Amino acid sequence: MEQQVTLEMMKNSTELKCELCENTTFNEVLKIRKISKLITGQQRDTIVPIPMFACQKCGHINKEFDELNF
Ligand SMILES: [Zn+2]
Repeated sequence: MEQQVTLEMMKNSTELKCELCENTTFNEVLKIRKISKLITGQQRDTIVPIPMFACQKCGHINKEFDELNF
């Protein structure tokens, strides 16, 4: 279910900045994880795209966007 964001919530939101250059605009980018077919039991490896945001200026991805960075 999609989370409803109201105008009131937006007023209480904070602007995110790039950790490196403090730029405030981001591009949506994808990281791709591959899960071995030995784990999933499928016929081939599974490709899982993980959307996150990269700084439009320097390309840096803030740590909070990159939660699956293991
Ligand atoms: Zn940046």
